Amino acid sequence: MLKVKNISFSYNKTPVISKVRFEIKPGENVALIGESGSGKSTLIKLIYGQYDLSNGEIYWKEQQILGPKFNLVVGYEFMKYVAQEFDLMPFTTVRENIGKYLSNFYPEEKQQRTKELIKVVELEEFADIKVKFLSGGQKQRVALAQALAKQPEILLLDEPFSNIDNFKKQSLRRKVFKFLKEQNIGCLVATHDKDDVLGFADRVLVLDNHKIIADKNIEDLYNNPKNKLIAAFFGEYNYIEPFGFVYAHQLKIVENSKYEAQVKDCYFNGKNYLIEAVYQSESIFIENENKLNTGVYISFEKK
Ligand code: ADP
Ligand code: MG
Repeated sequence: MLKVKNISFSYNKTPVISKVRFEIKPGENVALIGESGSGKSTLIKLIYGQYDLSNGEIYWKEQQILGPKFNLVVGYEFMKYVAQEFDLMPFTTVRENIGKYLSNFYPEEKQQRTKELIKVVELEEFADIKVKFLSGGQKQRVALAQALAKQPEILLLDEPFSNIDNFKKQSLRRKVFKFLKEQNIGCLVATHDKDDVLGFADRVLVLDNHKIIADKNIEDLYNNPKNKLIAAFFGEYNYIEPFGFVYAHQLKIVENSKYEAQVKDCYFNGKNYLIEAVYQSESIFIENENKLNTGVYISFEKK
């Protein structure tokens, strides 16, 4: 169990993390979301022991995580961290990079584990290519596999799929998060991408203004966004007096209702159309199956 107990931290004098507390159970997938600059990467680095805390304590099971002042070599066997900027050996192959920390005393296990991880991150074709020839996204996948090699108990991931193109992203996410669940590896995933969260996170922490403003299971957070930061994270949303926060897909266009608006724009979004309409002189967004023309008057309701 990871226990983050009331921690605070400042770079020089500027506070970045203030009285943050939460826990992560073994094997649990926890997402850490927040705007760019909200302190996600800093919080992850604090948990890894990269900086000294101003206040509070962090534990994994019975072991206290200490900063560089008290622990000369940053990092622990049971906890691995994949940074936004990753650190690989460019002149050696993907296979060698991934196996780097595995013991040569067990060559068969080493070979087997390396092979398994290459498959998880979908780099079979590149196993014997030198890392310097890889794209940013491929390097990110090598770093991920390297962190998993010695089976940590908890993994800290900072924007783990940010450099990976859309063609690969979804299948890679499924493979990696499934692998973590199977091996009972807990993870904390800092992200600003809802697709890293939906379908995978057991719980979500929302970081805003140096603090955790929500710590909820994913369904609760999604279904009852309590502010516009949370609503905006998940998609196109509105704040309409009688309904509170409603997503564009939670409104529908009907024949008659007391809520009337005028169509301003219409965007094809793949699944259907996103209608931008003016309601009480403000823009609102409604998802609709059909295309609508600018200027048309519509009535809408909450589904
Ligand atoms: P996020 O990962 O959510 O984008 P960061 O943790 O990277 O946020 O940054 C949080 C705040 O701390 C930002 O205002 C950033 O400019 C500042 N910051 C980050 N790293 C440093 C550093 N090494 N020194 C001073 N300020 C920093
Ligand atoms: Mg960051």
